[in-house]
Amino acid sequence: MSMREIEQLYRKMDVARYKPASPGMKAVVLLSGGMDSVVTLYLMKSIGWDVQSVSFNYGQSHSKENDAAASIASNMGIDHTVVNISQFLTVLTRGKTALTDHKINVPKMEDVKEGEIPITYVPLRNPLLLTIAAQLAFRDGASGIAFGANAIDYSGYPDCRPEFVTSFDIMVNLAVADTGSNFYVLAPIVNLTKAEIVKLGEYLGVPWELTWSCYRGGKEPCGDCPACVLRIKGFAEAGIKDAALKNEVSPTNIISSEHAASSTPSRRIDPEEDEQPGENTR
Ligand SMILES: [Zn+2]
Repeated sequence: MSMREIEQLYRKMDVARYKPASPGMKAVVLLSGGMDSVVTLYLMKSIGWDVQSVSFNYGQSHSKENDAAASIASNMGIDHTVVNISQFLTVLTRGKTALTDHKINVPKMEDVKEGEIPITYVPLRNPLLLTIAAQLAFRDGASGIAFGANAIDYSGYPDCRPEFVTSFDIMVNLAVADTGSNFYVLAPIVNLTKAEIVKLGEYLGVPWELTWSCYRGGKEPCGDCPACVLRIKGFAEAGIKDAALKNEVSPTNIISSEHAASSTPSRRIDPEEDEQPGENTR
């Protein structure tokens, strides 16, 4: 990865748009513990924001990603808030998403149909999480609200698109109009490919080994859920080894598993990997 490549990446992001008006302005960054949110957090810090992170217990079927978020924040020495919204979100999304309803199994990437919103989509999750992040920003006098939405190599979630980011920015500012608060809703990696996100993270010194992207809560990332497949593809294309994986996964394996014929698409989770739903009290 050359300096020229990094410069091109910053130009593609149009990074000047995301810098604070003056250095040291505060920003709240949504931190899921996955690669996109961690790279966003590192980027925000590197361009001059005084960052704090927030993660959510929304009833995920495992606590791996929130554990990852906490260790990343602690590793950076920043303030980290965990907000528990599991009680109402699990009720409201019951039967609608594999991420909070453990009766619905996480699909393999090969079973996700092109152009369809996958069952791992949590309805209206991003507007909800961003609203809570805005409340935190309001409380702490922060003006940046950043998240790792990505519209390229993404999972097909409608609330990760640039149009959503722009609309939310308008909405949230209307919601606090005349209070003296003014927010910038920022999704700086929205137009990057997964490989570019990996390269950017590597340049910024992201501790990949602390991150967790897998939708399943096994001991190791499963390697075949949509989040794992996109991550493996990104690292392979970037030519960088993923420090979160103990065993090297070659792109050949991914391609063959993506094309593997499956007469009965299985949405069952390997029982050995299926941990009990996490406690909601952390
Ligand atoms: Zn996985």
